[in-house]
Order: sequence, then C-alpha cells, then structure tokens
Amino acid sequence: MNKRNPIEDLAHLRHEFGEHGGVNMSIEASSTFTVIDPETMPELFAGRRGPDKGCYLYGRHFNPTVYNLGRQMAALEGTEAAYCTASGMAAIAGAILGVCDAGDEIVASNTVYGGTYALLHEFLPAKTRIKTTFVDITDLDAVSGALTAGTKLLFAESVSNPTLRLANIPRLAEIAHGHGARLLIDNTFSPLILRPSGLGADIVVHSITKFISGASDIIAGAICGQEAFIGELMDLHSGPLMLLGPTMDPHIASSVSLRIPHLPLRMAAHGNRALELAKRLDDLGLEVTYPGLTRHPDHDLFNALRSSKYGYGGVLTLDAGDADTANELMSHLQNEQRFGYLAVSLGYFDTLMSCSGASTSSEMSDEDQRVAGISPGLVRVSIGYTGTLEQRWNQLHGALVATGIVSAAGGDQHETCST
Ligand SMILES: *Cc1c(COP(=O)(O)O)cnc(C)c1O
Repeated sequence: MNKRNPIEDLAHLRHEFGEHGGVNMSIEASSTFTVIDPETMPELFAGRRGPDKGCYLYGRHFNPTVYNLGRQMAALEGTEAAYCTASGMAAIAGAILGVCDAGDEIVASNTVYGGTYALLHEFLPAKTRIKTTFVDITDLDAVSGALTAGTKLLFAESVSNPTLRLANIPRLAEIAHGHGARLLIDNTFSPLILRPSGLGADIVVHSITKFISGASDIIAGAICGQEAFIGELMDLHSGPLMLLGPTMDPHIASSVSLRIPHLPLRMAAHGNRALELAKRLDDLGLEVTYPGLTRHPDHDLFNALRSSKYGYGGVLTLDAGDADTANELMSHLQNEQRFGYLAVSLGYFDTLMSCSGASTSSEMSDEDQRVAGISPGLVRVSIGYTGTLEQRWNQLHGALVATGIVSAAGGDQHETCST
C-alpha cells in the first residue's frame, strides 16, 4: 500500500511555461484548432492523434490549458490520466456513464452528497435503467452481499457527507474486484489526505468546487483514472463526456492550476484548525463528530490509510439536538459572532455551515436520513483558517452559550489553555 502522495511531483509537472515564457501556463482561448496537413484530421477523429502528441481538434474534446490541469489532477491522485469537467456532478455522471450501460447495477454508500443520491436514486433508473442498491458502506458484509453478477460499479465517498465515516477503500476494492466491478471513490472531502488510487480504487472523482478551489468562486470537477478509461470517456463518437459535453472552460482551468501548488498548505491549515476546535467541543461534552478525534469510530482506519502530513480534513459536524436549535446556533454564529457563513458547500477559506438534513441531504426522505445517521439538528461545519484560533474559539463558544447549548462556565477551562 503506497501512501506517498505524488503532490511532490507537481513542482516539475507544473512547468508548462506560458507562450511568451510566462511562469504560468497560457490560457488557450480557442474553441477550435488548425491542422497544417489535412491528413491529420482523420487521424484525430480516429483517436490515433491527440493531445498527448500535441494535436488538438476542438475545445469540447481537449483544450491545452484544460488538458494540462488534467495532468496536474492525475499527479495529485496518482492516476495515469484525468479529465476536468464543468462541475463535480458532471464528473460523477460522466464516470458512471463511462462504466455502466442500461440495466447495469451500482452498489453505493447510503450516505453520499445529496445530488449524487438524487442522480443514483431517481434520475439514472428513470432515464437509463441503471439501478442502485444503497448500503451502509462501513458494513463490509452488507456491501459484499449487495453486489450481484450485474453490478458494474461500487461507489462511495472517501469521507461520507455529512456523516464523516471513512470508506475502507482497500477492502471495498477487494470486494468490487472479486465481483468483476470497479470501485469509484468521490475524494472531494479529502484531497491529498487520502489517495484512493493507491489504495485500490479504479476511478476517483472530485468536486474541485470545494477544497481544491478553496475560494468558493468557481464550480468545477475532475475524473481521474486509467488512460484507457479517460480515452473511452473522450471518444469522439461514443464517449459520454464528449457527447454530453460538460467540459471545463480554459479560464477556469488556468485559475485552478494556480491553486493546486498551495493546496497542501491549505489542507494542513483546515485540518489543524478543525482538529483543535473539535477537541475543544468534545471537551465540553458536545455531540461533535470529527475523524481526528480518537473516539471517532474510524480514527484508527483513517490513520492507517491517510498521508500523515495533511491532517484529518476540514469538516466536522455538531449535533445541536433539533433543527430549531441548529438554526439558532447558525444564526448566532453568522450574524452575532461572525464565526462563519450560513451557506452550503465546503472547502472555503472562511467557515461555512449548514444544517444537512434541511439542505444538502434534503433529497433523502426522513427515513433514509435517519438510517444514514443524519439527525435533524446536525450542523455540518467546514472550518476555515482565517482569523486566529482563540478568536474563532471565542466566537464559537459565545454562540454556544447564547443558544444555551453550553453554560457560560463551560468554556472557562480553555481560557488558560495556551494552544
Ligand atoms: C459538492 C459535492 C459534489 C458536487 O460537486 P459540484 O461541483 O457542486 O457539482 C459531489 N460530491 C461531493 C462529496 C460534494 O461535496
């Protein structure tokens, strides 16, 4: 099991100099590309020539700037190739349609991003007869029992949203491969921290919108996998990405490429801050969930699978008991304390918080939410790294006191704490 993260290799990979020797790659603002020799055109359409040989055809197929970002994403995930898409959902949908045909089956974790859940639960069966069986992904016997001869894909999030359970990627890969299926991991919550391809996953998808962007200003995604798979997705005549067309804009690709070099610093900063706040909430006896806490059910597994340099991620959850208290808490945190923003999404430099049951997991029925462990008062908090730790703790503590979740005396123990 190779846990080394190839981010170290990015330094030289990034050296796509700009057209005029700029230190950053140029933005190739062209939707179509000339061929000097007309004989090249059929070669391009037959897939015998392509961007790997410096040949470009049309921007929905490959654009040099987007292609180069794909190489960075492949290096990040340790895969042979990657293709960048207009959103995380486009990456997930494209990867699924690349693996599954009408009538094929998927086994998926029952705690996934709401959009993914809706895609698997409603959209794909209605439009394509691709059916999904949902299971508790931490129950490996249940996963194994759910795969049938018709299962083509096992799908899980590396760290589940919003329940923060860890997928046992090596064991899931064994189960999938034992049934002739492929393992697809959504690694949006844990770039750099986990490298699913090194742990046995066949395909890795990202919502770049979150941590990789880091600024909540763009929507983007990526599919990382083997060269042959990415080639199939991009086949000019039959590839789902080519034909459905969710390609990334080269301006966005350029912008994202300038953020990947400091992704390691940002992931470590998110992780440090989240761990410290989680420990302090835990010390107050609150219902906090964070994989970095030793009492988290997957803490040991996380340590076994993660790269130790980037912490345990930037997301924690706090169960406020009921939806009204959760709303009151978030209101205080945003409007009185300025601790963060009441907004969906994650991976932003500032803190974002939302009540999962009423927002990003609202696609799930109350019963499905209950089974998945998403309680009505569950507040998901994506911890930012702005401000100082003590300033943020005081804001958080102030809001917990104001909403009666902790008594005023509850946090005094930390006033003398020097961390
Ligand atoms: C946000 C998110 C997605 C969807 O990504 P978009 O970029 O919004 O399309 C998929 N998976 C996870 C885990 C996410 O958090």
